[in-house]
Amino acid sequence: MNKKTVIKKLNDQIRNCRKCPLWRTRNNVVPGEGAVDAKIMFIGEAPGKEEDKTGRPFCGRAGKLLSELLKKNKINREEVFITSVIKCRPPKNRQPETNELKACQDWWEKQIEIINPKKIVILGRVAFNITINLKELKNFRGKWLKINSRFYFPTYHPAAGLRFPKIKTILKKDFRKIKKHPKQ
Ligand code: URA
Repeated sequence: MNKKTVIKKLNDQIRNCRKCPLWRTRNNVVPGEGAVDAKIMFIGEAPGKEEDKTGRPFCGRAGKLLSELLKKNKINREEVFITSVIKCRPPKNRQPETNELKACQDWWEKQIEIINPKKIVILGRVAFNITINLKELKNFRGKWLKINSRFYFPTYHPAAGLRFPKIKTILKKDFRKIKKHPKQ
């Protein structure tokens, strides 16, 4: 089976998921999208209102900022894979709960396994805490970390950049380091 078929099958499973209570309130599941052989994967937190409406990741205001940051750094959105650690919108965009994060973990782990990206950009504290077992995003953001032969790059979530100009400045600085090969 080729990668496209494997990802399509996985997406179908994700869309039918009822492993946590979020299936009751969702309109659409947001498995993620992009190139199945992407060299870079972006992992965010959870779908918001627009994503829940469309089933597409990062298509709201935070998504617009993400697209701008990618474009500025000559990273083609179609060539990367974009997903989140939670595939269904938490009501009123509240923070995902531990049981929801645990229930969804299998999905993004499978996505990483199939796509096998060389680099993974982690967007925000929630994604950082569940993907990388280290404390305090602020101590690790903007640096490449080598974990089990893969390179991870934690930075802030674009939604935080929309709220705080200082974070937007840091995001702009961090995104410049994504294309460059990590020196590790
Ligand atoms: N924020 C995320 O973390 N993921 C999305 O898909 C949209 C907004």
